[in-house]
Amino acid sequence: MERPNAWKKYSDDEKKAVFTFAEEYKAFLSKCKTERECVAELKKIAISAGFQNIHEIIARGIKLKPGDRVFADNMGKNLALFIIGSEPIENGMNILGAHIDSPRIDLKQNPLYEDTEMALLDTHYYGGIKKYQWVTLPLALHGIVSQKDGTNVSINIGENPNDPVFGISDLLIHLSAEQLEKKASKVIEGEDLNVLIGNMPLVSREDESDKSKEIKDAVKQNILAILKEQYHIEEEDFLSAEIEVVPAGPARDYGLDRSMIMGYGHDDRSCAYPSFAAMLEIHNPQMTSVCLLTDKEEVGSIGATGMKSRFFENIVADIMNACGNYSELKLRHALQNSCALSSDVSAAFDPNYPSVTERKNAAYFGHGLVFNKYTGSRGKSGSSDCSAEFIAIIRRVMDDNNICFQTAELGKVDAGGGGTIAYMLANYNMNVIDSGIAVLNMHAPWEIISKADLYEAKKGYIAFLLNA
Ligand code: MN
Ligand code: MN
Repeated sequence: MERPNAWKKYSDDEKKAVFTFAEEYKAFLSKCKTERECVAELKKIAISAGFQNIHEIIARGIKLKPGDRVFADNMGKNLALFIIGSEPIENGMNILGAHIDSPRIDLKQNPLYEDTEMALLDTHYYGGIKKYQWVTLPLALHGIVSQKDGTNVSINIGENPNDPVFGISDLLIHLSAEQLEKKASKVIEGEDLNVLIGNMPLVSREDESDKSKEIKDAVKQNILAILKEQYHIEEEDFLSAEIEVVPAGPARDYGLDRSMIMGYGHDDRSCAYPSFAAMLEIHNPQMTSVCLLTDKEEVGSIGATGMKSRFFENIVADIMNACGNYSELKLRHALQNSCALSSDVSAAFDPNYPSVTERKNAAYFGHGLVFNKYTGSRGKSGSSDCSAEFIAIIRRVMDDNNICFQTAELGKVDAGGGGTIAYMLANYNMNVIDSGIAVLNMHAPWEIISKADLYEAKKGYIAFLLNA
């Protein structure tokens, strides 16, 4: 059984639409490199598209009615959007889930130090990374510093072409004989992911003559002086900061035919963005439409802003209450009567590494939205297994709407595996299937997707919200 290639079916107009949507996505991906930046940007777009904050709805005692558009922001890192359907929510919602955190390197709480007149930042990596991929690259700092007075200072250094960039050094080849004998997992170790940020000492002019008054750790002190001057932050403020070290620079077209996009964070923003974009195109749905963008997926979905948090069911309760139709029992019915596409990236078939995939059940660039009946690893350990009946519904919806789709597994049976947020939604007893976009170089600083797949995903999400 072979699945069709999406590029072959496009008219000139549709091909143009594929490239236009890719430009929109590239702008988003280049601008939003942290979960906080994603929430801030998508919230802004949602508000201009008529979505209202659920907390304002509640505070003002507004009753929600079919067609109303609402969002809930969870701590600035996790966002849920709803479009109220004509059917009561108790009958179920159509939910698009995806995550907006990506593998990266975080600064430690006490990060700044000086060694041999170099100022460095100590880090703690986040998610599954091949550490050797993150050295000798231009890196940027994105995040916030939260002050004791409750204000947040935004940090974004390394994206503007005039900004400096940062980086992690690697050993020169000339002296690497011993390093190159190591296992790939040990070539660069976690504690060696130190980001170089300065090399110029602070000099106190008055004390030039008096050696005893020479500034200690003068390079680090100079960095602190710059941080004080430009961002009004002190060294102790790092204690309450979340600063992420990410690849610097924009997403770009990939390939001479420009059919692909290279960018940081396709996992999972290549699913999150088309899910969000699909919501913007939905008006007056029958079933309540939901887009749930979660945080912490890359570290197991734990914590207040991850999928395991009570946030989602609490907000559904608030929304049902604002519709004038809440009870604990109705909430449970609403969740178990829902259907979800849990979208996360799939491993694209890589001709350089064919041995880890089984060709008939692999995801291919240009073959559209990927559906995985199950995830997990080896003997389906930890898998969220979607029912055949629900897949039949998905096939009908996709075929009726001319959506190009394919089915896949994450690699060969014994090769490894992975999980997504699907099983957490399935725990509510709803129908969930894993879906998403094929990615090359998954979890590397620069990942690659196909523009056709991105476009088919958005179209598939719209079809799901309206017809599932
Ligand atoms: Mn993912
Ligand atoms: Mn991932």
